[in-house]
Amino acid sequence: MSNQRQRALNIVQTRTTERVFAPADKISDFFADDVFTLEKMKANLAPDTFKKVESAIKKGKKIEVETASEVASAVKTWALSKGTTHYTHWFQPLTGSTAEKHDSFFDAHKGIEVFKGSALIQQEPDASSFPNGGIRSTFEARGYTAWDPSSPIFIWGRTLCIPTIFVSYTGEALDHKVPLLKAVEAVDKAATKVCQLFDRNVSRVNASLGCEQEYFVVDKALFNARPDLVMSGRTVFGHHPARGQQLDDHYFGSIPSRVYNFMKDFEIESLKLGIPVSTRHNEVAPAQFEVAPLFEDINVATDHNSLMMDVMDRVAERHDLKVLFHEKPFAGLNGSGKHNNWSLITNTGVNVFQPSSSARENLQFLTFLVTTVKAIHQYSGMLRASIASAGNDHRLGANEAPPAIMSVFLGSELSSVLDELENNGNIKVDKGENMYMKLGIDKIPQIILDNTDRNRTSPFAFTGNKFEFRAVGSDQNVAEPMTVLNLIVAKQLKDFHTEVTRLIDGGEDKKIAIVNILRKYIKESKAVRFEGDGYSEEWANEAAKRGLPNIKDTARALDAYVSKTSIAVFEEFGVMNKVELEARNEIQLENYILKLQIEARLIGEIAMNMILPVGIEYQNKLMQNAMNLKELGLDNSHVVAVISKVNGLLSTIQTKVAGLNEERGEVNAIESSHEKAIAYCDRIKAKYFNDIRTAVDKLELLVDDDAWPLLKYREMLFLR
Ligand code: ADP
Ligand code: MG
Repeated sequence: MSNQRQRALNIVQTRTTERVFAPADKISDFFADDVFTLEKMKANLAPDTFKKVESAIKKGKKIEVETASEVASAVKTWALSKGTTHYTHWFQPLTGSTAEKHDSFFDAHKGIEVFKGSALIQQEPDASSFPNGGIRSTFEARGYTAWDPSSPIFIWGRTLCIPTIFVSYTGEALDHKVPLLKAVEAVDKAATKVCQLFDRNVSRVNASLGCEQEYFVVDKALFNARPDLVMSGRTVFGHHPARGQQLDDHYFGSIPSRVYNFMKDFEIESLKLGIPVSTRHNEVAPAQFEVAPLFEDINVATDHNSLMMDVMDRVAERHDLKVLFHEKPFAGLNGSGKHNNWSLITNTGVNVFQPSSSARENLQFLTFLVTTVKAIHQYSGMLRASIASAGNDHRLGANEAPPAIMSVFLGSELSSVLDELENNGNIKVDKGENMYMKLGIDKIPQIILDNTDRNRTSPFAFTGNKFEFRAVGSDQNVAEPMTVLNLIVAKQLKDFHTEVTRLIDGGEDKKIAIVNILRKYIKESKAVRFEGDGYSEEWANEAAKRGLPNIKDTARALDAYVSKTSIAVFEEFGVMNKVELEARNEIQLENYILKLQIEARLIGEIAMNMILPVGIEYQNKLMQNAMNLKELGLDNSHVVAVISKVNGLLSTIQTKVAGLNEERGEVNAIESSHEKAIAYCDRIKAKYFNDIRTAVDKLELLVDDDAWPLLKYREMLFLR
């Protein structure tokens, strides 16, 4: 057997299970131990200072330098008492991971540990290598990080981490967090105004997010023996195992003990960091799992998701495991997503997506429901763009993941409520209580409670008291889709409010005005509602008839970000301006090109340097055998048949790789990133990747197992 493959498999045999112990029996005894929580602030700050910080956090107010100095001093004392030596501004640049640059508390000149308020508030990382889409070279050479007090400070490893935003000196956003915070503010404002049509006491609306994170786990030695996994995060070759996920026996099955201990370990670390992890289970594919923390304020949930991925990565090392966050690490098996459970909750404690037992409150519920559906319909291109990535392209629409068509699932009961509302368009409703009955909206509560039909094939589904955006990729920073979702809903809520106010000003009764606008929205956005099988061919055809876009690749999906509509909406709410959007578009196109470029190189290299030689050697063996048989006067036709098959595959591999390399030369010469991304998609990926893979995977089934150079799927996936 190939040396590398054999060595890796031998190593796996010697693995032992790392036992994991929690710091205390009860989670509440160690939850958020490593977080500088509000309670810790309260205990360590003067009451006046604490009030200022608290109001900054809760109301988004600015923190003065003097206040920051006191916070810094308290944080330092706490951090040093926990054995921390360094601090860092922790931020989420556009590279897709988190970034940090560690500074020591120790000041050698003074001979003591110092941490000034100014160092808490602002830092200038040497960040010239972070992608900026040309913003900083055109405007200002430098960017800085600024403390975001709304996300708590924490200790990870031996470093104090201060959540920050990252902006250029001319104010452009250089990270994922700035636009998110602005979009959340936009939806807060717009939703509050709409809520006030129903309840004057509402003064704030918070967006909440709970992410279900899917991932694969493989042994580290096996991971390292697959150059494609190491370099691109996914296997570019590999035939499905004889037993894949057909039996569905992995789902909710027992978790292998090594993985179980890893999970327990990273959950403990996450809990210490205040990340409220709660559920864990197997996923559909072998070696695939899911973790879902409880929902939190969207800003904190976003930080927690990024942090948790980092924690998982580092804790896996301790267990000699590797976590794969790629959206499609293994062909033929389910890919991984990150379901984003989203809702809006008022300061009075009402989840606006929670149907209530009061008919009147249900009008508010319907308002938010219908407005959200309308936003998805109106701005589906932006939403599609927000989940576009090279990795997610492999998953979306691959018959086991939500399609690239943005549609909304509401469930049959709720759909019929909307249908009734729409069809009753001519019924004259009066202001009295029986208006709700006439409209059929008096009976929502019980039907939602009974409503158990859950459509798993929809990219955007209503699940009882929240929406679940399922098209988000497992490797993505959720800030991006959450920025777009909150922004487009803010826009629609604002427009709704304007339209209703116009009717009221014209003398219409408030409730009737609301119902009339809702009816209009229901009609206008009907096409985006779909209750059937989202994975089916029929849906793709039906969606085309309805005029819904079905953009299958990132190269084209990203256009929607820089469309007129998108720029107008982003600018209307000050979330990003044209320059920022164009810069991001550029970064994403570059990133897409880079990923495909790496994969193309890997495919060429592995096929030519690892697969082809093995195929040729095996072919030679067969030929020797065929000649020997012939010499003895025996039938050799069966051997010749295999030789001919092997030969055909080797020829395909060789010619296709040659074509791939040549075409890559041409494509690389294209100047514009937009054209180049499309060329990489159509002329490189679509034209060559699958054909080469199919030939290699067929060869895998023919060549002597001992000689095959790559670890096989069955060897990587069935860890026990
Ligand atoms: P599923 O059946 O899809 O796994 P769950 O009810 O288990 O759904 O919830 C999955 C995620 O949704 C969890 O992170 C949970 O905290 C989150 N969630 C529940 N309610 C809300 C809500 N109102 N807003 C946002 N997220 C929520
Ligand atoms: Mg779910």
